[in-house]
Amino acid sequence: MAAGALIAGLGASRPQIVILPNGGDSPELQPEDNRPRILSRGEWGALPVDHTARNEYGLYREGSNPYGWYVYPASLRESYQTLIIHHSAVYEADGPATLMEIQRLHRDDRGWADVGYHFMVDKDGTIYQGRDLTVRGAHTAGFNTGSAGICLLGDFRFEAPSKDQSDAALALIRWLVELLDPTHLAGHQQFNPATICPGPLLAAQMEGLARAAGLRFGIDGYRPAANAADGCGCCTCVL
Ligand SMILES: [Zn+2]
Repeated sequence: MAAGALIAGLGASRPQIVILPNGGDSPELQPEDNRPRILSRGEWGALPVDHTARNEYGLYREGSNPYGWYVYPASLRESYQTLIIHHSAVYEADGPATLMEIQRLHRDDRGWADVGYHFMVDKDGTIYQGRDLTVRGAHTAGFNTGSAGICLLGDFRFEAPSKDQSDAALALIRWLVELLDPTHLAGHQQFNPATICPGPLLAAQMEGLARAAGLRFGIDGYRPAANAADGCGCCTCVL
């Protein structure tokens, strides 16, 4: 796609090969072009970030507060390597009320500054913005730095994601691949065998999701930032 045109020079004894830069007549797609519709925090009624949260301890400071609210210092493409998939377990109803309940759980019960996931996807295929992508999530204990957390609403011990939900998740993942340039996709349970998240009926689809998005499947790509601890050491998901 990026290759320029090859032009053979005329009238010379040896053809002159000139590689032209992409002339702009077929511009490469930018991540924004493929961004699926994502309901903003304002649209679903998210509460603002609470930097007094007891378990995020205010803002990150290297050395003195490694578990704090950590804004990635490098570009997002340099900061992320892995997308981690979750389910919401008992919080499976649709719509903003569920999101507000998950945010309440994470803020009030878990003591985090904000909802821990970066994105959530409901059964109708609506995608919701969670924690800002510029900030380390709180979704996979010990593996939060450099991983983006995506939660599909539902309890996938008992049912598989709907087609609309799977299609939306794949659209989101494909867009994140363009935006963040990750190498791997994994389920929460692969990082933490003690949880059943994201549930066996979603877990069975994840290798196919990874392949469809051009990612490798598993935890091998995870590379935590050298100068930051791995964020809140709690399992976000109820189950
Ligand atoms: Zn999880």
